[in-house]
Amino acid sequence: MTDPPSHRGFGFSTRAIHVGQDPETVTGAVTVPVFQTSTFAQEAVGKHSGYEYARTGNPTRTALESALASLEDAAFGVQFASGLAAEDALLRQLSPGDHVVLGNDAYGGTYRLISKVFGQAGISHSAHDLSDPSRLDGDWPANTKIVWAETPTNPLLSIVDIAALAEVAHRHDAMLVIDNTFATPYLQRPLSHGADAVVHSTTKYLGGHSDVVGGFIATNDADLDAHLRFIQNAVGAVPGPWDCYLTLRGAKTLAVRMDRHNSNAEAIVDVLSGHSAVSHVLYPGLPDHPNHDVASRQMTGFGGMVSFRAAGGRDAAMAIIERCELFTLAESLGAVESLIEHPGVMTHASAAGSALEVPDDLVRLSVGIEDVDDLIADLEQALG
Ligand SMILES: *Cc1c(COP(=O)(O)O)cnc(C)c1O
Repeated sequence: MTDPPSHRGFGFSTRAIHVGQDPETVTGAVTVPVFQTSTFAQEAVGKHSGYEYARTGNPTRTALESALASLEDAAFGVQFASGLAAEDALLRQLSPGDHVVLGNDAYGGTYRLISKVFGQAGISHSAHDLSDPSRLDGDWPANTKIVWAETPTNPLLSIVDIAALAEVAHRHDAMLVIDNTFATPYLQRPLSHGADAVVHSTTKYLGGHSDVVGGFIATNDADLDAHLRFIQNAVGAVPGPWDCYLTLRGAKTLAVRMDRHNSNAEAIVDVLSGHSAVSHVLYPGLPDHPNHDVASRQMTGFGGMVSFRAAGGRDAAMAIIERCELFTLAESLGAVESLIEHPGVMTHASAAGSALEVPDDLVRLSVGIEDVDDLIADLEQALG
């Protein structure tokens, strides 16, 4: 869906609240309705409102796609039933013999999709440390069509220089895809740094309330948009109208939530950094983070995800996680409530034994927007 040019001049939150969300034309409803319908009456054979069948298009979905595309400063945006369905649609551009380069601490589900599902279809992959794009340049795998990067990465919070990686990918005629789930468009807009497509699990910060699963792709490439629209309709991994409504409702408050996620995370990083039960804090906002300069340049804040390594090893990490009371033990991230997890056993178990394996003393926090003093008190008692 195209972002109306009239919206380009508005700020981020104004666009989150208004793009694609003009009052409904029949009743004037100020909030985009949940169009809970599978089909649309046609005026005459071949003459319709622009909507025929709800797999192909639904007005609630259109509103969400327009709003999210605008937030990524993108001409086009396509919504899917999950982040992985969105990734699948992008990867279906590939043919047998093609190669995918991905980061060496990619989201476990992305790794599983590329290695187990696309691997079976004759598409190869390799995992690389993308924090230094010149290393990939010197070690470029033949037939690479897509470079797939997250920044910050999950769960090690490494940073990739998007502009530098785009330059390398383009010189080798490959497309750069950035998974922007952790940063969100509020903190980082990869298309403006040269990425060809941006992927989101809208399940996380964009939805923001742990109540809906979804995925989104933004691009300025009309051919890619046409491919994605085709796959969206032909494969049918589409979100229902309620899911679109909830995601749009969440996205309206993205900016205010991210400001609080950022400030809460920074306060927690301060506490963890000085604590004897913690051997290392991983957060792009820390001056000793290896790519802090790049993060400062391409992001407007460092986000709500914080990882740390327990000084006492795996058992100590497990004990900290189990003693937390306010931080809920759960997978997922990016919502109003704070979560804690053990990536090695939980979110990244499918990477065990591969190049994407994560340290077993690693603890990941998704810092929510509760009162930060309560969060700090909970962590302090858990660290002991
Ligand atoms: C959750 C997540 C995904 C997958 O999205 P789903 O909505 O769970 O399918 C992809 N990338 C990242 C970084 C994620 O956190």
